[in-house]
Parts: sequence; structure tokens; C-alpha cells
Amino acid sequence: MTDTRVVVVGAGPAGMLLSHLLDAAGIDNVVLERQSQAHVLGRIRAGVLEWGTVETLRAAGLGDRMDAEGHVHDTINIAWRGEEVLGINTHDLVGTRMMAYGQTRIQEDLFAAASDRGAEVIFEADDVALHDLDSDGPCVTYGGGERITCDFVAGCDGFHGVSRVSIPYGIRTEYEKVYPFGWLGILSETPPLSNLLYANHERGFALCSMRNPMLSRYYVQAPITDTVDDWSDDRFWTELFARLPVSQSEHIVTGPSIEKSLAPLRSYVCEPMRWGRLLLAGDAAHIVPPTGAKGLNLAVSDVRYLARAIATHYAGDDTYLDRYSSMALRRVWGSVRFSWWMTNLLHRFPDQTEFDQRAQEQELAYLASSVHAQRAMAEQYVGLPYE
Ligand SMILES: Cc1cc2nc3c(=O)[nH]c(=O)nc-3n(C[C@H](O)[C@H](O)[C@H](O)COP(=O)(O)OP(=O)(O)OC[C@H]3O[C@@H](n4cnc5c(N)ncnc54)[C@H](O)[C@@H]3O)c2cc1C
Repeated sequence: MTDTRVVVVGAGPAGMLLSHLLDAAGIDNVVLERQSQAHVLGRIRAGVLEWGTVETLRAAGLGDRMDAEGHVHDTINIAWRGEEVLGINTHDLVGTRMMAYGQTRIQEDLFAAASDRGAEVIFEADDVALHDLDSDGPCVTYGGGERITCDFVAGCDGFHGVSRVSIPYGIRTEYEKVYPFGWLGILSETPPLSNLLYANHERGFALCSMRNPMLSRYYVQAPITDTVDDWSDDRFWTELFARLPVSQSEHIVTGPSIEKSLAPLRSYVCEPMRWGRLLLAGDAAHIVPPTGAKGLNLAVSDVRYLARAIATHYAGDDTYLDRYSSMALRRVWGSVRFSWWMTNLLHRFPDQTEFDQRAQEQELAYLASSVHAQRAMAEQYVGLPYE
């Protein structure tokens, strides 16, 4: 049996950043991760950082490689009807830019920092179970009878983890929307377009994104019943090009995919994000469809609030701890609503009629004609302010 102040469940970006910030504040913690380190590093996920995320990572001393290798950009292009293209310049509209820097690299930076400070991260921790969360002395068990007593458990174990489901029904309220399609994504070692490009098309949504100057991420909306085997590289590129204006697709450099996956789209929020001594952060508490590029950014936002709440608790002030759930949820719902809006605006739904298609196109035309609408979109895309 060991003692610590905070057990962090999950070594994804939320858990590892929390451990980093707690260590910086001198608060003992242990991270328990179900998978191996190689498995966690092998996951290909997010890549677009809000500026608040960039500043949080810099302030934590995690910004050097991001600043050297990340790509700062300020324009989102949106295409529709296979011909129109609107450029939303977030810097001109709201004075803020974005950074393209892959989640895999953030995870590498977090593990390197953990190794440098000698953090206690236990990989391949099976059967993690949380106990006595509504008491002053919770504990966490794992493996063949290992037990850690602590003051707090930080549930950073993603959507399929054990933390959220440890909050009893009746206390936990869940809000959910599952979308009737998925995103087929490929990674290709080719130079990306210079700006993000979203497309609304009668054939379905498409997105051209970036990870670094020689790594592109492309997606097409696909039936969730498909498998990656249904999508050869040739079929993927043909479908992507069919959904984009030629003025954009003529700049795309194609190449073999080095990764291909089909991801479901879901909006989900669990309230509250705190129960007794359990505090949830990141995908453990909420999921957004990736349309608004918010999942990773929300994980960082939660952790920023949570690290402050725990640090001020040990300094004798529980104000932020008591307000953690409501403060985090305000930003969560802002991003959940924005991601839902972008998903509805840009995708082709199975029951969509020509009327619905025209209404979507008109909303895009309105966006193109109104600087006020563009500013509202830009403000939410680059991230709402922190409290
Ligand atoms: C395929 C895919 C593509 C995505 N693309 C984007 C994107 O383009 N833009 C964007 O913003 N977001 C994207 N996301 C979302 C983004 O990656 C997540 O929001 C982000 O990873 C959340 O970080 P987290 O630390 O909360 O959760 P996770 O990264 O899921 O980490 C949770 C960790 O907990 C561990 N764990 C789970 N259960 C247990 C347990 N019982 N015991 C111990 N450990 C456990 C897991 O192994 C994992 O390492 C994508 C997600 C997926 C799945």
C-alpha cells in the first residue's frame, strides 16, 4: 500500500498534463495507465491547438518543441457547392491564431518531461478500481492487489474508462447525441494545404488538415457501417477530390496512406464533473465530434482549472475546488454547442432533403456575406476565453 495526494487515472494528454502541473506545484501524484507507453504514443488523434492551449503548454514549460516544429496559421477555408470558398482569417477577425501540432507529439513531450522529473507513471495497470470516493480517504486498487490511498482521484481515463461510471446513477446526468455517420481519415506523408479546408458537399463532408510540413491529415464523411477495407487509397482520393472545388484540390499532393481509420461522431457531456473526491477531466467527462477541433483543447482547459483547484485546496482555499465542475462545464458546453453547430452545417445527413441542402448552403452564403457571423465563428474556433 502506498500513499499519495492525487491518483491520476489515465496517461493521455489530460492525465499527463495534470501530473506535470501538480508536480510543478509540489503536489505528490501517481499516474495509472491501462495501456503500455508505446500504445499511448501510437494513437493518431488531434492536431489543431487553440491559442489558449498553446499558452497553457508554454507556461508549463512544454512549449519548446511545439514552437520549433508546430505550424502557426490563421485561416480556415470553407468550401460549398463544389465551387465557393470562404476564407475565415481568425487573426484579422478576432486577433488570434492557431497552431498545428499533433497530439502524438504533445504526448511525447509530456512523457519526456515526466521522465526528466522522475514522475511516477505506472503503465499496464490492469483492473483499476476506485473506492470510497464520497469519503475523505478514497483509494485506488489495481493489478494483483496493489492499493494507493490518496486525497483525490483525477479521472482522466477517457470515454471508456472507469472513473465516470464510478459516479452513481441518480447523481450522474448524461447528455448525448450520436451522429449517423463517421469520418474516414488518412495520414499521408505529403505536404498539406497551407490552410485548413472544410467542405460541405452533396456527396458528404470533407476536411483537409495538417500535422506538420510533411504530414497531412484528410477526412471524408463515410457510413459508420463501412470498414477501412472498403476504402482503398485510390477510392479515398477520388472521393475527396469529388467533394472539393478544383481551385483547392489542384494544390493537393497525393501519396500512400500511412494510417487509415474510421471514427464515429458523438456529442456527450456528463454532469457533474466532480463527485466527492473524484474529479473528471477530458474525454472522461465529455466527447465532441472532431469537426470543431475541440476534444484535445477541452482536455487541456479542464486540466488548467483542475490543477488550480487542487493547488489552491492545499493552500487552504477551496473556492476553485467547489466551483471546478461549474467552471469547466461552462467552457465544455461552449465547445459542445460549437462542434454540434459545425457538424450540422457541414455534413450530409441520411434523411437530408434538397431543401435541407439548400438551407445549409444559404447559411454558408450568409457566413460569407457577414463579417459579424464570421467573427462569431472565428471567436469560437480559436477558443473562448478562460475564467
Ligand atoms: C480517432 C480520434 C480522432 C480524434 N481527432 C481529433 C481531432 O482532430 N481534434 C481534436 O481536438 N480532438 C480529436 N480527438 C479527440 C482527442 O484526441 C481527445 O479529446 C483527447 O485525446 C482527450 O484526452 P484525454 O486525456 O482526456 O483522453 P485520452 O486521450 O482518451 O486518454 C485517456 C487515457 O486513459 C487510459 N485509460 C482508459 N481506461 C483506463 C483504465 N480503466 N485504467 C487506466 N487507464 C485507463 C487510456 O488508455 C488513455 O491512455 C480524436 C479522438 C479520436 C479517438
